[in-house]
This record gives sequence, structure tokens and C-alpha cells, in this order.
Amino acid sequence: MDPSQQRAEASSVLTTGAGIPTGDKLNILTVGPLGPLLVQDSVFIDEMAHFDRERIPERVVHAKGAGAFGYFEVTHDVSKYTKAKVFEFIGKKTDIAVRFSTVAGEVGSADTVRDPRGFAIKFYTDEGIWDLVGNNTPIFFIRDPILFPSFIHSQKRNPQTHLKDPDMVWDFWSLRPESLHQVTFLFSDRGIPDGFRFMNGYGSHTFKLVNAKGQAVYCKFHYKSNQGIKNLSVEEADRLVAKDPDYAIRDLFQAIAKKDFPSWTMYIQVMTFEQAEQSPFNPFDLTKVWPHKDYPLIPVGKLVLNRNPNNYFADVEQIAFAPSNMPPGIEASPDKMLQGRLFSYPDTHRHRLGANYLHLPVNCPRRCAKVSNYQQDGPMCIFSAPSVTPNYYPNSFSSLQHDNNHNERSFCTAGDAFRHDSSTEDNVSQVKNFYKKTLSEAERQRLCENLALHLKDAQIFIQKRAVKNFSDVDPDYGARIQTLLDKHNKTCGKKEPLHSYTRCDP
Ligand code: NDP
Repeated sequence: MDPSQQRAEASSVLTTGAGIPTGDKLNILTVGPLGPLLVQDSVFIDEMAHFDRERIPERVVHAKGAGAFGYFEVTHDVSKYTKAKVFEFIGKKTDIAVRFSTVAGEVGSADTVRDPRGFAIKFYTDEGIWDLVGNNTPIFFIRDPILFPSFIHSQKRNPQTHLKDPDMVWDFWSLRPESLHQVTFLFSDRGIPDGFRFMNGYGSHTFKLVNAKGQAVYCKFHYKSNQGIKNLSVEEADRLVAKDPDYAIRDLFQAIAKKDFPSWTMYIQVMTFEQAEQSPFNPFDLTKVWPHKDYPLIPVGKLVLNRNPNNYFADVEQIAFAPSNMPPGIEASPDKMLQGRLFSYPDTHRHRLGANYLHLPVNCPRRCAKVSNYQQDGPMCIFSAPSVTPNYYPNSFSSLQHDNNHNERSFCTAGDAFRHDSSTEDNVSQVKNFYKKTLSEAERQRLCENLALHLKDAQIFIQKRAVKNFSDVDPDYGARIQTLLDKHNKTCGKKEPLHSYTRCDP
């Protein structure tokens, strides 16, 4: 009999994890019908011990999410900016995986909360993995990565009470006014997207593109929803928290299952090095956008999601994005937040999934001819190196060599090494622009109502500090929020000052 036929026959018999055919999977091995049971029951132990280990650590951030697969297709030639193979020619398609997520909630939390949404894209390019690990906003709360753990702690549970804590949230935000821009986005209508299909995505950071001649520009990535923008009202979002906490995961899965494939148009903004030097704002500051009129959107291609995961755990829970995965032609800029993430993401994956997390099918660079390096061993090593390959480099026995053509572009850098304080940089101009010019009057009023509804639960001294920051953006912004807060504070009889770290009022 042909061996593949033998395998097919064997596959209809239930086996242990070691492939041993199982005689009985319904009854445990016991001495007599009442027990006790025997430790030699390897069928039971194989099942139970695996079950005991089925969970891997939850992601510290972006724990709750949905994933899907599809392709990226180039629609416009951007080869004058980048030699990256993913943008090689119009019509070129590259497989992608995307994971959408909320940020602060745990893995079982509701999808319709007010929170930024993660929008991470893995491109399986001809030259390895490119992970564009962005959000549904082009900006972020902080500009210095040393604040990231504190920022996230303030958004999660109070370490004593294990409750979400508005004091912690607003204490941090009001102490760090660089958060004003993102806080304003978050409490605007787009703070609660209607699922994942009706929101834009942004690479958020500033990157560097390098072309075949070695010329470079800085770049931002945008991906605009072809479904349009749709948001949930506060009332509808609250209703869904109880009625359908998995609303966004369900919406994405069902749309793809019905072949209503969601898509996004990708654009880039580019800035020359000279423009960066003369820019009135820091172009590497993640709390800032690049104004469209000065840096217009350049169309590049489209992202289409047309396949659901086959297995949520294998395809979505184990997918690991790292901004440090950039193929030749796409490089890091001095963006401090990007630099911090270049370290932090792969560090997390090594902890969460193990040193060989890139061997997992969803993470491995499947479009490369092969992964060619001298790394061997480690936990859960799936690929074995050819037995004659050394595990050191340079060596005299293998033809596998590096190639200088793939070197990063050299760049100049200068300055005093110091812990530079960025807290007093311009925290308000772009927020003012957004508040006064981008939002309509009705949107402004809803923004202030959403903010007051959340801020009312913080202690009064924190409310005051937050309102002062909003007033620094625009006196009208602060005044509207204060008027609404006064009403809330009066209704619930809130008095100042409380000034206590752990409160027990409702
Ligand atoms: P533009 O008028 O060219 O752009 C305004 C942008 O605001 C558009 O991209 C629009 O997105 C977006 N927008 C509209 N409503 C909201 C909302 N509730 N939350 C988040 N974004 C929203 O002006 P500029 O480029 O000069 O930017 C003006 C201000 O707009 C900026 O200071 C910034 O606050 C904000 N903004 C700018 C972006 C940029 O990359 N330049 C991106 C997003 C916001 P759409 O076109 O999809 O409606």
C-alpha cells in the first residue's frame, strides 16, 4: 500500500498526541468500577496535561482581537521612494494577515468600548516579514517610550481594587498634556468605531523609505476604509457591551464568510530630509500628524481581507507583530516611540511564545525561499538546520553569507546624550486645529459631553487639572467641559477635595 494511503487510513483512528491509536477515549482506567484510577492511564494524562497548558500569557495590551487574511495589491508606482519588493510593480500582490484589537481590556472584554483600536498588518513579502503595527489613529498619547508602562497601567485595573479607575486614567492624562491630541480623538465620535471594517488605519509612526539608488525620504502610512467611516453612538455601544460583547469580531467574521470582503486604500505621505529639518513641528513626534495640505496623501495600493482564520488560537492568538520586521527599502526613523517598540514587541513575543516564535506557521516568512541563518536550538524549535550546517559565523564550511547590498542606509546623527525633557513641546496647536476646524459644532459638543461623562468620575482636583489643559487648547473647549462637569458634580453631590489614592465611593 502507498504510504500516503496508510497515513489517510491511520488518520481516522483517534490517537494520543504522540500518535498512538486510542482504544477508549470515554472511560478512564480504574481499579474496579469505583476507582481509584491508575497513573498508567496515559490517554487521560495526555489529554489532561495538554488541557492544563492550553493558555499562553494574555497580551499585556491589545489582548482582545480579531484576525483575517487577504492580500495587498500595488495600484500606484512608488518605486521612486522605495525599493521594497512589496511595492515592486503595479498589480503585484502580497499575502497579508491583519489583527484588529482593543487596547486596554482583557481577552474577554467587550468590543464596543471607547478605546483606540489596533490595526496591525503582517505582509508576507518576498524579502521576509514586514509588520506595520498601527492603530485606527495617526497619533498616540505619549511621545517618550519610557512612559509606556505607566501609561498602560493607568488605563488598566487599579492594583489594589482590581477595578478600572478613572482617577488613574485622568491623573496620568492630566499630568502629561502631550496626551491631549489623542484624548481628543478618543472622545470624538471616532472613539467607538462600528466594528473594525468602518475605521481607518495608520502606521502612525514616521518611517524611512529608501529607493534603489539609496535615496531616502521619511514616510507615514495611512489606510482608509473603503466601507466608509461608521461609529456607534454612546447608547448603542453601551447596549452592545451587554448584548453582544464580541460584536466586532462577529461582524468581521460574518462579512468575510458572506464574501463581503472589506478593503482599505493605502496611502503614504512623504517628507524630504530637508523638509524635516525645517519643519515647524517635530516630524518624529507620535503625538503629531503631518498636515495633509503640506504632505498630501499619495495612493499606493489596496488591502483586501478575504479569508477567515481556520483556527483562532493558531492564526490570531499566536500571531506576533514586531515593528522591527522591516524589509530592505523600509527603515526606522528617529521617532522615539518607534525606537522603543522596536525593542519591546519582539521582547514580548520571546516571553509569550518563546524564542522560536517565528517558526509558527502564521509568523514564519513563508514567501522567502527559506530562512537562512545560523540560529539553531531553543524551545519549540520546529525547523531543523541541515545537519552539516555550522551554528557559528563566519565559518569555512557553508556558502551562506551576508550581502552588503541589503545594508541599512547610513545616516548621520549628532547631539548630546541626555534624558531630554519633551513634556513642554507644543502640546496644543494641532489639537486646537482639530477642535476648531476639523470638527463640526455638533461633533464638538458631543466630544465635550463624552469627555465630561468620563471625567466626572475622577476626583475634583484631577478634573480641574484636566480642564486647565483643555482650556490651554482653546478656552471654549475647557469651558464647555467645565459647565458639563459642574452639572454632573452637583447631581452626585461631589465635593472637593478627596485626594486619596484608593477610593470607595461608587
Ligand atoms: P485635513 O482637513 O486635511 O484632515 C483632517 C483629518 O481629520 C482627515 O483625515 C479626517 O479623516 C480626519 N477626521 C475627521 N474627523 C475625525 C475624528 N473625529 N477623529 C479623527 N480624525 C478625524 O487637515 P490636516 O491634515 O491639516 O489636519 C487637521 C487636523 O485633523 C489635525 O491637526 C489632526 O488633529 C486631524 N487629523 C489629521 C490627519 C493627518 O494625517 N493629517 C489624520 C487624522 C486627523 P477623513 O478624511 O477620513 O474624514
